[in-house]
Amino acid sequence: GGELRFEGVEFGYDPRRPILKGVGFTVPAGRTVAIVGPSGAGKSTIGRLLFRFYDVSGGRILIDGQDIRAVTQQSLRGAIGIVPQDTVLFNDTVYYNIAYGRPGATPAQVEQAARLAHIHNFIMALPDGYQTTVGERGLKLSGGEKQRVAIARTILKNPAILLFDEATSALDTHTEREIQANLREVSRGRTTLVIAHRLSTVIDADEILVMEAGTVIERGRHMELLSRG
Ligand code: ADP
Ligand code: ADP
Repeated sequence: GGELRFEGVEFGYDPRRPILKGVGFTVPAGRTVAIVGPSGAGKSTIGRLLFRFYDVSGGRILIDGQDIRAVTQQSLRGAIGIVPQDTVLFNDTVYYNIAYGRPGATPAQVEQAARLAHIHNFIMALPDGYQTTVGERGLKLSGGEKQRVAIARTILKNPAILLFDEATSALDTHTEREIQANLREVSRGRTTLVIAHRLSTVIDADEILVMEAGTVIERGRHMELLSRG
């Protein structure tokens, strides 16, 4: 895994209206940093800048010390694996959905990724189920199971950097906990940036940044932030 660093990042969709006003943080190789804050704080914008949907207007974003503007779009996309909030799956097998877009992956690697995401028992299931001509119904994947497919697909890519962008925000509380446990498992030892609404969902990040209106207003570990109120 690589090191990810934001240095004094400034950005506005409209140049007259700054959105990020000097955001800096480092995710050391293999570590997890989380960004929390209210809606509108600028969290998703950070993800978009990392993918270079937009370029920074000030400061730099570095992966392993290299400015992301100096690498090709293709290698940048290859380096980052995202688990988004809403996963759209094809109504084809779980296996197909995991392997989609991963032409070099062997069946054993697909199986292994499915195992890591605890979805291997569903590998031949169809996400939206099926109904046979005699009316027999196949199972449907739940929201949590669909997120497991997304996790397996991302892990199969073996990216240098993982980005969880509100990856559990759409789930009910119980499922959210289960999927978070899995995200913790698969992110262990990988450079991971977690974007989340609530502090309670990122308790064991190595560092948590609290953002508000485009700036980092607090940073620390979970307990430190709680004790400061
Ligand atoms: P968060 O993810 O923390 O909710 P965002 O990064 O989505 O925050 O948004 C930060 C600010 O940028 C908000 O004021 C939002 O309205 C604005 N914004 C987000 N996307 C766009 C866009 N595509 N064009 C213009 N403004 C945007
Ligand atoms: P890969 O096949 O390499 O995993 P994907 O297309 O599945 O690529 O996922 C990466 C792509 O996801 C990005 O290139 C981007 O277009 C898209 N994407 C989805 N959600 C986000 C997000 N929140 N922030 C940035 N990119 C996103």
